Amino acid sequence: MAMHNNTIVELLAALKSGEFSSKELTRHYIERIKVLDSLYNAFITPLEEQALQAAEQADADRARGKELPLGGIPIAHKDIFCTRGIKSTCGSRMLDNFISPYDATVVENLTAAGAILIGKTNMDEFAMGSSSETSFYGPVKNPWDLERVPGGSSGGSATAVAARMCAGATGTDTGGSIRQPASLCGISGLKPTYGRVSRWGMVAFASSLDQAGPMTQTAADAALMLNAMAGHDAKDSTSITDPVPDYSARLNDKICGIKLGLCKEYFEDGLDANVQQCVMDAVLVLEKMGARISEVSLPNTRQSVPAYYVIAPAECSANLARYDGVRFGHRCENPVDLGDLYRRSRSEGFGAEVKRRIMIGTFALSAGYYDAYYRKAQQIRRLIKNDFVNVFEEVDMIIGPIAPSTAFRLGEKIGDPVTMYLQDIFTIASNLAGLPAASFPAGFVDGLPIGIQVIGNYLDEASILQLGHQFQLQTDWHKRTPASAEL
Ligand code: GLN
Repeated sequence: MAMHNNTIVELLAALKSGEFSSKELTRHYIERIKVLDSLYNAFITPLEEQALQAAEQADADRARGKELPLGGIPIAHKDIFCTRGIKSTCGSRMLDNFISPYDATVVENLTAAGAILIGKTNMDEFAMGSSSETSFYGPVKNPWDLERVPGGSSGGSATAVAARMCAGATGTDTGGSIRQPASLCGISGLKPTYGRVSRWGMVAFASSLDQAGPMTQTAADAALMLNAMAGHDAKDSTSITDPVPDYSARLNDKICGIKLGLCKEYFEDGLDANVQQCVMDAVLVLEKMGARISEVSLPNTRQSVPAYYVIAPAECSANLARYDGVRFGHRCENPVDLGDLYRRSRSEGFGAEVKRRIMIGTFALSAGYYDAYYRKAQQIRRLIKNDFVNVFEEVDMIIGPIAPSTAFRLGEKIGDPVTMYLQDIFTIASNLAGLPAASFPAGFVDGLPIGIQVIGNYLDEASILQLGHQFQLQTDWHKRTPASAEL
């Protein structure tokens, strides 16, 4: 088997047995990126020298008997993570010139676990979008069909993993940005419980919703990456202090007797019939494996998109106030006074979608409207959370679709924000509630991949990954590779 089709678990075994070195592996991925990424535009900053040096170090460490959990494994970071000495753009012209003086905690943790950074991936500007089309660096193409979007906002990371240009990647998920691109690109992606992974050094979009997670071929690989990423961080005040379990420990436990809830509201409207069929086929597989399926109800699901599109813009309008052209980031030429400096730096630095959100958010937070919009949205958020708390009294996990359709065409929805926002209808609720949720490859419709969503209870990432792994032992959707990635 070609090196790049191995999972992280397999690559670690091959590195250990000396089948190939990390330097050979890293060089192999670098070559793939060089040839393939002109098709996809998945990377904003591919790395070469530095990656090869780190790989050499990893090989030397291994030779000296130093075994690290991800020792010598090449991964990519979404360009939302600050990386010391490397451009960290967040997909925006605003940060096109920004070289971070420090590493995000996620980056630090993965480096400490032995991972090799092979590049920074393309994304929707400031993670606002569902198609990776709002990037200042141009859209990312879906490797399964180059005329289609890979989903977003972590579309660069999803494409990089799907096209086997790295072994795994990081993503972030504020309303679905790990799970939806994972679904549309045919890979596994997990958004952990809010606060499980540190947000320090991760450019803030909507701070009460943002969460980083792994994007990989398989659930077992996601467990390995999450082991390294998760943990308390004093630098993030919302970081959870509970000890981190070994997410790989329970992967091989059978799921017989596990209680799964099918959320009826997810099947009511807007879901493509073929996508629904794929999800139901996957449910059947799980049932055969001994899972007990029942119908559950999350009655406030429909309110999740409107609530999110008040809360997320409100928080983003506050977070993005820091880009003022003064301290870092884009600054306009020859400002005449301070007002002109702010106005032009921000007008030039931000793209249309980001501006739209800042305006919505500023409006929703303004005196007189705060109660009508922001407070109302927060009340709905509580109702949505309560729905989940009730359902988790009855079942262990909730399963359903990730997105209403397979990958759509480039340009198809970019001019119609509301249609684009509806992409998130099945994913947003778990962000509002802070729950962990994942997408695992579950089938194809007309040659395009589809994921199944698994939502777990608070801090129960281990059960989600166990279910994903057991499902992947019975299916081979996660093993398929796009023809465009064949060299
Ligand atoms: N598509 C959603 C948005 O545009 C979610 C993005 C995300 O999760 N970062 O806000």
